Amino acid sequence: MTRLTRRHFVFRAALLGIAGVAFTRAAQAAGSCVTPESESLRASLNYVGTAADPSVACARCAFFTADAAGGPCGTCQILGGPVDATGHCDSFSPPS
Ligand code: SF4
Repeated sequence: MTRLTRRHFVFRAALLGIAGVAFTRAAQAAGSCVTPESESLRASLNYVGTAADPSVACARCAFFTADAAGGPCGTCQILGGPVDATGHCDSFSPPS
């Protein structure tokens, strides 16, 4: 069994940090509305980037706030981060 030295631990932590930044930048560059921090919640709520039925897309959800600059990513109160205006999840709620 390999013993993890402090140097290896710091090196691996640095690599993970670099990978996280690279993932976020790649997602932003690709125009996707993703944050690694919300991935497990997205999965548990069956979030998809494109709703099968546009009438229940995120843009029509009470928890959605559109991007002020008109970009494709708005903010979801439930997921606590960016989502596609065309997305959908199990917590969809029509505005009252
Ligand atoms: S709760 Fe679900 S459907 Fe509503 S904005 Fe958030 S991700 Fe979209």
